[in-house]
Amino acid sequence: MAGRWRRITVTTASAGLILPGAGLAAQAHANPAASYLSVHCSAGAHTLAAPGSHLYPDTGNGGYTSLHTLVHLVYDANANQFLPGNRVVLTDRATQCLTSFSLDFERKSANTRAGPDMSVQSVAVNGRPARFTFVQPTYPGDPHGQNDPNPAAHEASQTNPVGGPHHNPLPPACSPALRNISVPADALDGTQCPANKLVITPSAPVRSGSVFTVTVSYTGRPGVHNDGDGTTEGWFRAPDGGFVTTEPVGSEDWMPLNDYPTAKPTYDFSDTVTAGRTVLANGVLVSVKRNPASGEFPGGSVTWNWHSPAPVASYLVEDSVGNYHLTERVADNGTKFYEAQDTAIPAKQRHKNQAIMNLQQNITEFESQFNGTYPFTSDGVIVGTPRASFEEEMQTMITFAGGFIDTDVLYHENMHQWWGDNVTESGYNMTFFKEGLATVAEFLYHARLAENKAGGPYSPKGQAAFQASLVKQFNQIYAGKSRFWTVAPSNPEPAGLFSGASTYDRPGAAYLALRQILGHGNFTQALQQIQRTYGGSHITEPEFEAGFTQWLPVQTSTCRARLSQFFTQWFDTAYPAGGGRNRPQITGPGLDGPDFYNASGGCS
Ligand SMILES: [Zn+2]
Repeated sequence: MAGRWRRITVTTASAGLILPGAGLAAQAHANPAASYLSVHCSAGAHTLAAPGSHLYPDTGNGGYTSLHTLVHLVYDANANQFLPGNRVVLTDRATQCLTSFSLDFERKSANTRAGPDMSVQSVAVNGRPARFTFVQPTYPGDPHGQNDPNPAAHEASQTNPVGGPHHNPLPPACSPALRNISVPADALDGTQCPANKLVITPSAPVRSGSVFTVTVSYTGRPGVHNDGDGTTEGWFRAPDGGFVTTEPVGSEDWMPLNDYPTAKPTYDFSDTVTAGRTVLANGVLVSVKRNPASGEFPGGSVTWNWHSPAPVASYLVEDSVGNYHLTERVADNGTKFYEAQDTAIPAKQRHKNQAIMNLQQNITEFESQFNGTYPFTSDGVIVGTPRASFEEEMQTMITFAGGFIDTDVLYHENMHQWWGDNVTESGYNMTFFKEGLATVAEFLYHARLAENKAGGPYSPKGQAAFQASLVKQFNQIYAGKSRFWTVAPSNPEPAGLFSGASTYDRPGAAYLALRQILGHGNFTQALQQIQRTYGGSHITEPEFEAGFTQWLPVQTSTCRARLSQFFTQWFDTAYPAGGGRNRPQITGPGLDGPDFYNASGGCS
């Protein structure tokens, strides 16, 4: 699309503005609150990524905390269009005095077939009209500020520095939106980033500490984002509606938001859609109300209200609309289980899918033995028809694409409800942390099958088979010579973030080794304590490593140092190819490879 790479300069935000108002100092003597107004106000940061980041450095927005979001879709499911009245209302708390602040919103895309084509009608802050403009992202940490006129400060790349045809030495401002998976990963390195930062200037600065609302009204066609690996995510066109699955950044292709994993507002959805369609969102279904025919909906419409009391990370917001058959069931402990399938799926396949979906309560109970109490009031599965290239752990509403579900993957995605959803990674480079634990759920599923075959969970033979299966699965991965030793799990490129075993098998095996090092009981205690401490929020790599270190049974300085080395080897080290010596050299008791403990049970 023409204009996608055109640099659009900022016209509104200005840093370091002092609030206007003569006599403020004099007033301050009379009114202590007025002195507050005399502090410097400035533009909020246009990114939450750390300086030097090369994984989606364009995403997230600073200067405020996201508290609550009301999504109010007005959606014509036949035409796949948001109609007038379609809007989001974001409630935020300012963490500085703000002259302007930003959101992420990819309203247009070079992908003219399946990408978005939306436009913003108006923006209001606390109900008052506000000015808005779209700007390009700037690389995080740019000393010339986020309005740097140098075009090189706004370029896409897989790597830091950008490189590309002009050998740009600066860090990237965004991750490339590759056209498809067969394009070379570096094809767009050094090209200009699209202007997807929606910068909003309120009529008066927003005071630090104040809670404010932002209403963005927009219309048009939602769509998918072309990702750093050439796959797509976002709002997929489904028969008579849409199917929403968005990791890592595709939520901004159907709604403006603070698109960063640590931004976790709670959600309400009040969606008015074509009569006869079903809306599926996070949390619990509150009400469904039929509306009479109107100019926009000649055949009538229906309003679905969903409510998520739990905060939801940016990439886990669910809001599919279409011909879905939805059922609800309440478990003995009060958890609601939702099951939804697109009615376009052939009946025979729907029947097969349902048998697997019905396992979700049992899987949740099994996984609770390791993670502790299930963190949400509901859980659910949607099977959609579009060929999205992945399944995803949308919070309390797991999405399966292509009309098909399998048990292995349901164990994986359901494990994410604790890891990723309830306790969220602090940045994209920590994707391995939650994918590793979700991979552990697949290991546990295979161990469970072995256990059942050998006599069940209450028999010594069954328990031995369970443990033997986990050891075997670890040893298979540890013996591998594949490329996953050559990429540090905590430092992937966008092109390999979700395709590399370094994000999945390698950290998964590390957790199995950690379980042997800590002891099975202590490992479980560590998982549950991390859930209690960080649930509803997010966690950094040092925080979650400390969460395990606390439960190390031998608390000597040498053992603590060795565990730190273990984490560095498994999570942070890129080895030369080949395996053998070129892989982590600390494993755990009973596993292949050098043991964590020495012969006398200490560390050396
Ligand atoms: Zn996963």
